[in-house]
Amino acid sequence: MRQLTIYRRYFYDADCYTQGKPQKNIGVQVHSTGANNSYLKRYVQPDDGRLGTNRYSNHHNRKGLTTCASAYIGKQDDGTVAVYQTIPFEYRSWLSGSAAKGNANRLGYVGFEICEDSLTNKAYFDDAVMEKSVLLSAHLCTVFGADESMVFDHKELHAKGLASNHADITHWLKKFGYTMGDYRERVRSALAEGVQVTYINCDGEVTVLYDAKVTTPGTWLNLRDGKSGNAKVLAQMPRGSTVQVLNDTGVWWQVAFSGRSGFAMSNENGKTYLEPLKTPPVVVHTPSPLKDINDKLETARVAISDAMAMLDSE
Ligand SMILES: [Zn+2]
Repeated sequence: MRQLTIYRRYFYDADCYTQGKPQKNIGVQVHSTGANNSYLKRYVQPDDGRLGTNRYSNHHNRKGLTTCASAYIGKQDDGTVAVYQTIPFEYRSWLSGSAAKGNANRLGYVGFEICEDSLTNKAYFDDAVMEKSVLLSAHLCTVFGADESMVFDHKELHAKGLASNHADITHWLKKFGYTMGDYRERVRSALAEGVQVTYINCDGEVTVLYDAKVTTPGTWLNLRDGKSGNAKVLAQMPRGSTVQVLNDTGVWWQVAFSGRSGFAMSNENGKTYLEPLKTPPVVVHTPSPLKDINDKLETARVAISDAMAMLDSE
């Protein structure tokens, strides 16, 4: 049995999520980003404590974008290669674009992006492309009732007249002597072995250390995108309001205010801006609007792993 961990960090602000509806999916489209940036935080936000913060706000969890993958594979802030699911797999990916014979998105090919690096690092290629993306492709095949013959890269879908003209991921495979035929062979053998997937839900669950009161001498205290006075202002927290403290190491504390999390100065020049209120630690759980779908996915996962276990025992 092969093992794959999938972090779930849904794009609640992106149109592909807010407009998304379940559709029947039949296969997988494999993409790579075409930009030399192997860090997931470039695309996947907000930070879950593992991704790190995107200071340029050019990630894909935004309104008005026409590109959206169902999952992204790349590095967390500490360099660990990980898989992040960003919309439910039943939803349509927004990746391939329309071409002469149709549109792979609409035809039910669910797509993910692998974050490219300089395309010369064999260790990263082996981990991100030949291991994690192969296992994700195999898992999606299992979810959709497909086999490896329904896994195509962007270049192949273009050749079939179902996607825009791009070279991914064939151009990357070629650097290390592989083809999409070899890739599908890896998917086939993963399917034969079985893939056990563990989902880690990063949505809406935060641990609150304690509440604090805004005691800045000014009218408000800025909630910022990063630990710097130059970081983007996310909200103005009025003096006297209560915030939830998520991390209180250093001068810049991570706090949640009015449904957003960011950073605020806890003190400056001996003046306290955030004064802890003495309350016991609590865990806030915001129920996911996708609870039904999550439950169905979970049921399907259990059914798949039961079926795999039966196959194993034969
Ligand atoms: Zn592509």
